[in-house]
Amino acid sequence: MDFNDTPEEAAFRAEARAFLNANAVLKSEHSRTSGSRAFNAEDVALSKAWQGKKAEAGFAGFHWPKKYGGREGTQMQAIIFAQEEEKYLVPPGIFNQGVGMALPTIMSCGTQAQIDRYARPALFGEEVWCQLFSEPAAGSDLAGLRTRGARDGDDWVVNGQKVWTSNAHFSQFAMLVARSNPDVPKHQGLTFFILDMATPGVDVRRIKQISGTSNFCEVFLTDVRIPDSQRLGAVGDGWKVAMTMLANERFTVGQAEGPDFDDIFRLAKLVMLDDAPAVNDAAVREKLVNWFCQAQGLKYTRLRMQTALSRGKTPGPEASIAKLVSATKLQEIAAFGVDLLGQAGAVMDSETAPFDAWFQNALLYAPGKRIAGGTDEILRNIIAERVLKMPADMRVDKDMPFNKIPAGPR
Ligand SMILES: Cc1cc2nc3c(=O)[nH]c(=O)nc-3n(C[C@H](O)[C@H](O)[C@H](O)COP(=O)(O)OP(=O)(O)OC[C@H]3O[C@@H](n4cnc5c(N)ncnc54)[C@H](O)[C@@H]3O)c2cc1C
Repeated sequence: MDFNDTPEEAAFRAEARAFLNANAVLKSEHSRTSGSRAFNAEDVALSKAWQGKKAEAGFAGFHWPKKYGGREGTQMQAIIFAQEEEKYLVPPGIFNQGVGMALPTIMSCGTQAQIDRYARPALFGEEVWCQLFSEPAAGSDLAGLRTRGARDGDDWVVNGQKVWTSNAHFSQFAMLVARSNPDVPKHQGLTFFILDMATPGVDVRRIKQISGTSNFCEVFLTDVRIPDSQRLGAVGDGWKVAMTMLANERFTVGQAEGPDFDDIFRLAKLVMLDDAPAVNDAAVREKLVNWFCQAQGLKYTRLRMQTALSRGKTPGPEASIAKLVSATKLQEIAAFGVDLLGQAGAVMDSETAPFDAWFQNALLYAPGKRIAGGTDEILRNIIAERVLKMPADMRVDKDMPFNKIPAGPR
């Protein structure tokens, strides 16, 4: 492990800081980032403008070819820039799915015409992408999806329903996986498409979340015609393309934003329990020390991932460990913060509640962090199989033709 920047990385960090200092405002000790914000039209416009500014200055698409507007740099530069950027007040990030996932996949699996059409507008913040993968009966078991894609002349006709689609209500394009052949085992009968969200038959309905925001949607697809030129990869290769995309997602699913050890420690020093600061209470101290240990473990696990990238290697399954621990820690810290706040913990109004209702908000969005990008149980399966080499999870339907798998109506 090496915790220090190489001379090249240090020079790049200085360059990134100079750009950020000139174009954004540093967060103060009291700035709180939240994973629950709703994005209104103004947020989307600001995010697009900020992405454009970064791309113009060479601080986007770090390892993309220069001909597509990228920097031809390294994955490490992307990490260093993200580490510096999170210290500043910048518009919400809505480009992970396009710049971080869709376009790298199009560059690996797409045609030259597709790369030429989609790369620059995504990188410069002109077009937003979403991911139409999950369905009511296909989340962890993504290969069990039921949305159908049938070939009709030069087009495909797609029918089905997707759900939990983040940002669908302001996205121009989507990555869509559909079942093109139900007669073969589930992983073999899928095909991947690029969908223009303005196509007739695409019906986007926002889902109201427990936090009161509405950042993801249900998407109904009725006789949606997609030209064959919008197919990504070969017919039946949808699973392979989706896995290429999910490998890119690994780099974009980061630390769960919200209150962390330092914040709950500060709160426990301020709040009084039985006429003494809460930190004096033995049960409080035990919790705090546990979260401190987890936070330290996460810090060094991330540094291990970073060291692997810095040396040009692919990080191992550490990302699964980091996500599993950080999302659970966020939920526990948020719940304990609300407890410590007593009656004030029941106030959601950020204008009047202490700490801008930060713990309250985090308590409502933290469960989603334990599901998105792989549920806790799925991450434990990955760690069991790939890190500990334990026997694989049972997958009884893996080799059966999809239409022979016992199921309800489809
Ligand atoms: C905030 C958020 C944003 C999201 N954004 C998107 C998006 O943009 N696009 C998109 O396509 N999807 C998105 N999703 C959906 C997400 O990918 C799925 O919710 C996730 O894959 C889980 O699938 P599911 O909800 O169908 O749950 P299920 O897979 O039905 O799981 C239900 C429960 O069963 C457990 N389980 C399932 N299989 C196993 C197993 N083999 N072993 C042990 N336990 C198991 C799970 O851990 C879970 O507890 C988002 C989800 C959230 C919460």
